[in-house]
Amino acid sequence: MIEIKSCSRSELTQLMSELGQPAFRAKQVFQWLHRGVESFDEMSNLPKTLREQLKEQCVLTVPQVERKQVSKLDGTIKYLWRLADGNCVESVLMRYQHGNTICVSSEVGCLMGCAFCASTLGGLVRRLSAGEILDQVIFVQKESGQPISNIVMMGIGEPLDNFDAVMRFLELVNDPDGVNIGMRHISLSTCGLVDKIDKLAGHRLQLTLSVSLHAPDDETRSRLMPVNRAVGVDCLFDCCRRYFETTGRRISYEYAMVDGVNDHDWQADLLAKRLHGVPGHVNLIPLNDVRESPLKPSRRVRQFQQRLEHQGVTVTVRRKLGGDIDASCGQLRRKTLGIKEQ
Ligand code: SAH
Repeated sequence: MIEIKSCSRSELTQLMSELGQPAFRAKQVFQWLHRGVESFDEMSNLPKTLREQLKEQCVLTVPQVERKQVSKLDGTIKYLWRLADGNCVESVLMRYQHGNTICVSSEVGCLMGCAFCASTLGGLVRRLSAGEILDQVIFVQKESGQPISNIVMMGIGEPLDNFDAVMRFLELVNDPDGVNIGMRHISLSTCGLVDKIDKLAGHRLQLTLSVSLHAPDDETRSRLMPVNRAVGVDCLFDCCRRYFETTGRRISYEYAMVDGVNDHDWQADLLAKRLHGVPGHVNLIPLNDVRESPLKPSRRVRQFQQRLEHQGVTVTVRRKLGGDIDASCGQLRRKTLGIKEQ
């Protein structure tokens, strides 16, 4: 069976020709799929025989809303989606002045093991297909009735650990006949897989790359992020420099501030030194609570910010959204907690 929503335009054209259909049918099918139809019968401008053939040969993924939570604080909506095989992932819809942004998941669980993040607690179950990543955008838009203008790949999973599906997702979501979201409205966040960042650079996309840095020194970063034990901070920054030189795009560095761990003055100074000469931007994230983790939020966010700014670094502090529904950075999980919900 073909998972049809993961098909590229050329694959759909190929499929139509195999079914003896004219090429324009590929565009019609593509438009229906990306509009979020829930059965092939909804594709009302296709001949009935073609709809029957598609039913026989293709799978149409339709994620189900397992749970929907709306923040009373800021209207952020968190969806827990049930996928065809019973696995679940979360997506978050955030309202900003510049438009609605969706945060999508790329994997069921995560292999990376970062100490502060809920998404990795049960390890990696499986990677999502391009169609399953796209479905989050299509069905959040459909279910909420809110048009989406920006995408952040900052949900559950490590996007660059699912490289091919993510690249295909980007191509699909960018298509003018589909969801049509431009690359400049998309951010992709990575824990820093250097070989994959180099590979991504080769595609010269206009998206924004965010690198989860969280510490400028190897000792602290390796403690927080096991991925750093294989490739240290020096190598990561060399890679980031290459990325900027190849793409001309400034990197955004995410830095979740942990009390007494990565919020010392010397770390701000080392970070400023490392960023010297490589255009980039630091986004400080006040640590969000993850019940299983003993790490506490830093009380020095302002001081850290000012210390970086005095050394010429551009810094912003990420606004917390959806705090009352566990929809903030690092709080997404592949299933509901077995505790009483408020
Ligand atoms: N795996 C990718 C995508 C996840 S993006 C990555 O690591 O970048 C989610 C962002 O939230 C990452 O920067 C992550 O490090 C950060 N994060 C994880 N847990 C957090 C927490 N408890 N508080 C604040 N930020 C957190």
